[in-house]
Amino acid sequence: MSDGLSQELTAPNGRKYTQPLGLFINNEWRAAKSGEKITTVNPTNEEVIASVHAAGREDIDEAVSAARTAFNGEWREVNPTQRGALLNKFAALVEEHRETLATIETWDNGKPYSDSYSGDVGEVLAVFRYYAGYADKNFGQVIDTKPSQLCYTVLEPKGVCAQIVPWNYPLGMSAWKLAPALAAGNTVILKASEQTPLSILYLANLFVEAGFPPGVVNIVNGDGKVAGVALASHTDVNKIAFTGSTATGREIMKAASSNLKDITLETGGKSPAVIFDDADLDNAVQWSHYGIMGNAGQICTATSRILVQEGIYDRFLKAFGEKIKATSIVGDPFEEKTYQGPQVSKAQYDRILSYVESGKEEGAEVYTGGKPSTVLGGKGYFIEPTIFTKVTPKMRIYREEIFGPFGVVLSFKTEEEAVKIANDTEYGLGAAVFTRDLSRAHTLAKKIESGNVWINSNQSSDVRVPFGGMKQSGIGRENGEAGIKAYLTSKSIYVNLAVKASL
Ligand code: NAD
Repeated sequence: MSDGLSQELTAPNGRKYTQPLGLFINNEWRAAKSGEKITTVNPTNEEVIASVHAAGREDIDEAVSAARTAFNGEWREVNPTQRGALLNKFAALVEEHRETLATIETWDNGKPYSDSYSGDVGEVLAVFRYYAGYADKNFGQVIDTKPSQLCYTVLEPKGVCAQIVPWNYPLGMSAWKLAPALAAGNTVILKASEQTPLSILYLANLFVEAGFPPGVVNIVNGDGKVAGVALASHTDVNKIAFTGSTATGREIMKAASSNLKDITLETGGKSPAVIFDDADLDNAVQWSHYGIMGNAGQICTATSRILVQEGIYDRFLKAFGEKIKATSIVGDPFEEKTYQGPQVSKAQYDRILSYVESGKEEGAEVYTGGKPSTVLGGKGYFIEPTIFTKVTPKMRIYREEIFGPFGVVLSFKTEEEAVKIANDTEYGLGAAVFTRDLSRAHTLAKKIESGNVWINSNQSSDVRVPFGGMKQSGIGRENGEAGIKAYLTSKSIYVNLAVKASL
């Protein structure tokens, strides 16, 4: 049965559910005015899962108008504590639908089911519950100016917020944006990534069930160049929050200048893991493996440049190769033993393989991998976990974000050289440092230009802790107190207490 706005689907793990396929505007499902649709593909077997309505400029205008009406109307009457309760209600519904959401995420994105279940859906729960508690804890100040004046500030929502997310953590990145925006009293239009819209569209009905008024949350799928541009340039949108590539981030900044929108950008990375001779080898190997092979290497903070001090280099490389063999089991993401599913799309698969060629042409050496994996008979976008050695800082595989299970390993001699190599990038998102010398660890944490530094671990992230990038890895922070403050604006109010009129 299919009315074009939803479809009964059976996922590869046998789970049956109703998949929404329309544009979710004003708490209703609508068809795209242009009739345009985008098909979404299962990266495990290259088969089409469904065709999803794609928002055009007119649809975006309608979504913005619904969000503006809600912002000026019913949503203003909902007090902060009530907003928190709505967020908690939503989280309870997400928990009820956890298996279905995890199934959709794995089907559409290709990540292992256990990761979707605990990591991605778990992230939605944690983020919504955290900001549910934060909704009524944002205060202004009273500022003592002069005896005849009362001066105070209040924190107000920014207004209508557009949010654009990528495909690597569809649910997680949406939660990072939706929860603080709603807790702070904004209204939202969220655009999914063309490659992975299904889980986010499924969330939409849960917002209605939780009791969010019409127009507060609007969710659409659509082409970045059409729907994304329409949102970023719309003059009735007050703020845009974006996660994606640095190149797109630049486009968004330009488009946002139309009305001086407030912006938060979470963009790309080429993060280093720096391993010193005195590091605990097993620990460094475990974390460095996760740092580049986790989520099939599709993590913005992936430590794709592994810098190893020369005294430990050979031992590290050998142990790292063994760790890949033992742990990076490539295969069907619904199989329990699978560590690495397919890459999200043919485009990403081709892109990663093109970097293999580039690395070879520029004189680097494949240490392991460097080719497609034919684990499922040649179907699906599977790539063998890949490590290159004999890499120099001029090479493209050293400089550019590849976004796959693809790391480069280099050696260094001194601490000073390690800092220099670590900072030799336009990015500044994450960095891991492995050493038993704590004073060196903290010194490096200061010297490395990066929004996040992990000492003797890798990829830690916590909803209570701000996340974001330096340099061209982004502007602003998500999560923690900074995450909700990014959706609030301060207003200053002056009250004249003098009885007689005076200046
Ligand atoms: P992308 O930039 O191609 O697309 C991201 C989103 O932007 C998609 O929804 C897309 O439709 C939209 N878009 C594309 N062009 C647009 C335009 N001109 N105007 C407005 N919107 C547009 O990125 P991607 O390939 O989906 O994701 C991978 C990238 O995301 C990587 O670079 C990765 O590092 C980055 N990322 C960053 C973080 C972070 O927090 N810093 C987290 C996850 C992913």
